[in-house]
Amino acid sequence: MSTATLTIDLDAICANWRALDGQSTGETAAVVKADAYGLGADRAARALARAGARTFFVAVAEEGAALREALGPGPVINVFSGHMPGDADMIGDMDLVPMLNSLDQMIRHVEALPGRPFGVQLDSGMNRLGMEPAEWAATREVALGQSPTLLMSHLACADEPDHPMNRQQLDCFRDMTADTGVPLCFANTGGVLLGPDYHFDMTRPGIGLYGGRPFEEARPVVTLDLPVIQCRDLEPGETVGYANSFTAQRPTRIATVAAGYADGIHRAMAATTHMLAEGTPCPLAGRISMDLISVDVTDLGYDPKSLQLLGPEQGVDVLADNAGTIGYEILTALGPRYARRYLGG
Ligand SMILES: *Cc1c(COP(=O)(O)O)cnc(C)c1O
Repeated sequence: MSTATLTIDLDAICANWRALDGQSTGETAAVVKADAYGLGADRAARALARAGARTFFVAVAEEGAALREALGPGPVINVFSGHMPGDADMIGDMDLVPMLNSLDQMIRHVEALPGRPFGVQLDSGMNRLGMEPAEWAATREVALGQSPTLLMSHLACADEPDHPMNRQQLDCFRDMTADTGVPLCFANTGGVLLGPDYHFDMTRPGIGLYGGRPFEEARPVVTLDLPVIQCRDLEPGETVGYANSFTAQRPTRIATVAAGYADGIHRAMAATTHMLAEGTPCPLAGRISMDLISVDVTDLGYDPKSLQLLGPEQGVDVLADNAGTIGYEILTALGPRYARRYLGG
């Protein structure tokens, strides 16, 4: 195998969805934006639909249109960015539900697509998307008169259970949605874990489905195996890679694997990351290049055919910590050069 292989366990995604669904009091939707966090929205969403998910969320209408092609009619596809200029045909033809973020978007939607479904996104304090309390107060009667399918808001600090922002946003969301009679949706993965106060009628986890923090009990979803292109022996004092960033302290065996930072393997993780040969960790040697990584396999005693970067032993969040980032960024950065192989589903 000459290309690196990203293996995605669809059964694990579905098991994670079921586990979060089991903790939620209402319906559990699935967030599949950014190609299901880089793992393949078509495959992930089809598997989740078979597992029982009836509602999906995407970031923009284009993603929703592609998802509709994959899922066919039936499942609800909600769009976080709402109704953007030029989106009316796509929203109408592909049966998407925009989460309207402003009075402008609401006017655009009801003028272009009268009678077609929409939700409303409310800003409960994150100050990123949605109507703020004053705008909502002025829009509320008109909006409710058009029968929105959902009122939603988003938590800024849900992965920190003790953060006072959670309760503050909850109070704000409750105030804004009181006596509306419209289904409510508030919780991402972190919100589900905050408990039933945060669940309302529908939850919408993303990262937890794909095996990332803060859903610590998640089943691992991805493994990444990188083929070894070449192995070589180094004498003590010889160096490896750009800037001579590794110097052999002893007779050393170096394996070079076919992937690099252009494939989403952040340079910053090099110092603390290992690659595994059938479970045995081997340290990286020097810098991560664009398409290549050098690995010290001296202690292995044999030349491996491939080395594993991501898997059950070294998960998404370990790599995230090593790179000084979050699991979301590790997943969404996984590049287009990998052969994607799907298990289960
Ligand atoms: C991405 C996103 C989610 C999913 O969040 P996770 O932390 O991945 O569970 C939910 N709601 C909104 C508005 C989002 O942008």
